[in-house]
Amino acid sequence: MADLSLPRPGCCKWAEGDSGNYIFPCSTRVEAGVSYCTEHSAIVYIPPEERRRNRSGGGMSLSFRRAA
Ligand SMILES: [Zn+2]
Repeated sequence: MADLSLPRPGCCKWAEGDSGNYIFPCSTRVEAGVSYCTEHSAIVYIPPEERRRNRSGGGMSLSFRRAA
């Protein structure tokens, strides 16, 4: 059984949970020096206002941003 209490090296470090009780449910492989997979980095770097605007549009169409 996988230990979800620590981020895995080379994997997405997306955390869920309360302070002091995080789990790292995403095991997507990422490149060295990259913290999050494409999906989660898109969430991390979208400001809250924009996230709300997207949600009001309806649907789950999350447009991924390419890292320049
Ligand atoms: Zn992820």
